[in-house]
Amino acid sequence: MLATLWILEVGMLDEIYKKTKLDNISKIGTIIAREIASNDLQNYLDQLSQTNEVCAYITDDSSILMSGEIPCADIGRQEFNYRIANAQNAPFNVFIEEKPINEIVMQGSNIWRASWNARPATEIRYTQMINDRQMDQPYYLFINSTITPLSATVDTIQKILMIVSIIMILIALLLGLLLSYKFTKPIMMINAQAKLLGKKDDLVFDGHGYQESVELSETLTMVNKELRTVEKLRNELIANISHDLRTPLTMISGYAEMMRDLPDENTPENLQTILDECHYLTRLVNDVLDLSKLQAGATTLNLTTFNISATIHAILDRIEDMNEIILIREIDEDVMINGDEMKLSQVFYNMLSNAIHYMGEDKTITVRQIVSKDKVRFEIEDHGCGIKEEDLDKIWDSYYRTNNDHTRSIVGSGLGLHIVKQILDLHHANYGVTSKVNEGSTFYFEMQR
Ligand code: ADP
Repeated sequence: MLATLWILEVGMLDEIYKKTKLDNISKIGTIIAREIASNDLQNYLDQLSQTNEVCAYITDDSSILMSGEIPCADIGRQEFNYRIANAQNAPFNVFIEEKPINEIVMQGSNIWRASWNARPATEIRYTQMINDRQMDQPYYLFINSTITPLSATVDTIQKILMIVSIIMILIALLLGLLLSYKFTKPIMMINAQAKLLGKKDDLVFDGHGYQESVELSETLTMVNKELRTVEKLRNELIANISHDLRTPLTMISGYAEMMRDLPDENTPENLQTILDECHYLTRLVNDVLDLSKLQAGATTLNLTTFNISATIHAILDRIEDMNEIILIREIDEDVMINGDEMKLSQVFYNMLSNAIHYMGEDKTITVRQIVSKDKVRFEIEDHGCGIKEEDLDKIWDSYYRTNNDHTRSIVGSGLGLHIVKQILDLHHANYGVTSKVNEGSTFYFEMQR
């Protein structure tokens, strides 16, 4: 911007001024030529020469016929003839000639002196032959004008520009410093706080300043929260798994040692305890593996259209044989759904085995299939201990057990319902539980038909 201003104002001012003046004189010439036969011609001449500070007159080839408000200095005969001769050859012609002009300078306090050749001035001489049909002979229009030398003006402009440039550069520098401070300060603050990422619970990033830094702060605050949650989960998982592994292993080694040292203890019951603990360990390891696959997003659904009612009947048949339970099946029709048969079987199996493990004295479990227009809902109802209201949301979290004190529950790894939740979420299914303490629980899930 500044450079353009310098070029235009200092470098090209003279040229622009000259061009404007030339255009102006050509315009005056055209107007006078147009009005040559008008009664107001004198008025036009006066007005145009005054407002544009040019001298103008109309002549035939021998004498001046009409002169404007500013009369022209005497033009010598030779120049007069020369201009007329030239005008006859072209519709109009313009001469631009540099010639010395006098300048009044002050010398001492009250003495003035005219100084010749002080500065050369440029004179524009415009001549036009006007041939109007209403006139019997051609007229000639002479316009003379001086282009005042602009070096003094350019000097002044240069000085003003210099001051403006310095002020503008200073302002730009100041603005630049201010802006860079405004932009870098929040980034520096965020950077300092980012070093504590994942180490502090209540880390809140403060990057106020501009929209992007505020958004970045919010994102990082969220990332910190996630990191802390993952860290806590990891610690919890290690605590839980090590506890869950140690207990059965202690039992197994304890019983094995006892059976080795005391031949009387070599009973089928003790062997069964060892086997139970082995099964428990297998289930725990399988659950952990399943869950880690599901959580890593490595699990893809193997979607098929299958008869879910038949699948559930088959699971119920197996369970019924193995357990002493009263199983009420309310499954009236076969329903086809689209889903991953293996994984949905696991969902149903986990819910059912929970019902068996937590069932009440009546040992009754009801499995219900409710078919609606576009959905099928499965309910597994037991009359056991039930779940406290405040625990209802938490049981779907990994490793959540309603007592949650790392004491090993008689059954389960505490991962079962978390696996159920992951699988049903993958199927975009609706699921949940209704429960009353000491009355029992009903777990359900719904699938699109
Ligand atoms: P677990 O392997 O310990 O059963 P789950 O994830 O399957 O773990 O269940 C989480 C917790 O939810 C259980 O520890 C238990 O407290 C509670 N729960 C699940 N199903 C039932 C039920 N049918 N009746 C009562 N409590 C239940």
